Amino acid sequence: MKMTLSKGSSLAISRLCQAGFEAYVVGGCVRDTLMGKKPSDFDVTTSALPQETKSLFTDFTVFESGIAHGTVAVVIEGETVEITTFRSDGEYLDHRHPVGVSFTSRLDGDLSRRDFTVNAMAYNEKQGFVDLYGGMKDIENKVIRCVGEAERRFEEDALRILRALRFSSVLDFDIEEETALAIHSKAGLLDHVSRERVYVEIKKLLSGVRARRIVEEYSDVFKVLFGDISPKAEALSSCNGDLLRLAAFFYNTPEAFATLKPSKRENTLLKKVIALAKDSLPDTEVELRRLVASHTEEAVRLSLELRLAIGESVGGKALLLDKVIKSGKCIKREQLAVNGSDIIAMGVKPSNEIGSILNMLFDAVINGEVDNDRESLLKILEQKLEK
Ligand code: ATP
Ligand code: MG
Repeated sequence: MKMTLSKGSSLAISRLCQAGFEAYVVGGCVRDTLMGKKPSDFDVTTSALPQETKSLFTDFTVFESGIAHGTVAVVIEGETVEITTFRSDGEYLDHRHPVGVSFTSRLDGDLSRRDFTVNAMAYNEKQGFVDLYGGMKDIENKVIRCVGEAERRFEEDALRILRALRFSSVLDFDIEEETALAIHSKAGLLDHVSRERVYVEIKKLLSGVRARRIVEEYSDVFKVLFGDISPKAEALSSCNGDLLRLAAFFYNTPEAFATLKPSKRENTLLKKVIALAKDSLPDTEVELRRLVASHTEEAVRLSLELRLAIGESVGGKALLLDKVIKSGKCIKREQLAVNGSDIIAMGVKPSNEIGSILNMLFDAVINGEVDNDRESLLKILEQKLEK
């Protein structure tokens, strides 16, 4: 079988090989191809040292920010190809970082440091697929298995624990027994992984087709990371989108989400969605409009979806929300048919009072007391000002 390479990786490999080096595509792109999926990017691994690689691509834009780890990024016709020198990581510090990176002239050394058999294959036209650890068979049997001894691999780098769960969830693969046992026994090491990295993995893990099962089967791992959170695991099989899945996961402990250092926007939205989903269901169109006005359409919609995902009935409120939005009726203060200048024109001096008056009019519109048209609003305003 032949693998279709991207233009950039293909050019990079031929140029490196012509110069007498070995070069292959490696990792995720090989795995994806063997699974019949289109790879998102093509990483190249080579026997050339970073400086040697650099000197071969002087006619392209080259980024060197990863050069200390052996990576040179070359931009070939708009495609960024990461070319990394064969590496063997040697000793590990603090269960996360290799003490130093040592380059090696052999592909097998490079493949042996990779995390899982399905991620440890390389390919080039001349050699075909290089599969030293049974990655092809594991893809066929849908299995995630560590390269080498699982416990040792997780001790070296605890992030691999979460990567294993993530790949299992996303690819819908089983976790091989020794690997699974090691995940349970080494879970305590996850304290060594930065919360930012944990967040990236958790988000991907929750987006996977197998998220519910992983969350249930590896509750001990999540306990190390977040304490007792009793996630709404069952909701993970019926809701889509990162934020909804995170909201289902952190349903009972929204404060634990903040420890992952999400953006302020994400944190606020998640807390709001969970709070709305736990509050009483809005009954009428007016109530729904009031909610949208104070919490945004996005938060209200997500809260309804979350209710559905956890098996609550929302009694057609999602449709009602669509109706409220589509009606084009005012749900944001900016949509109010009058503005500050109208109020000033009626003789109110520019001051904070303008804002309060606009709020009062907005409330009246949201509550259905007055239509959002200029004339009706100005009339109300006149009456108020006369008082
Ligand atoms: P994705 O589709 O998510 O990008 P990927 O397999 O390309 O999947 P990356 O995180 O981009 O994953 O890593 C590229 C390759 O580097 C992996 O396929 C694996 O061979 C190796 N790798 C990445 N992280 C680790 C790690 N922590 N330990 C060992 N090998 C790793
Ligand atoms: Mg990748």
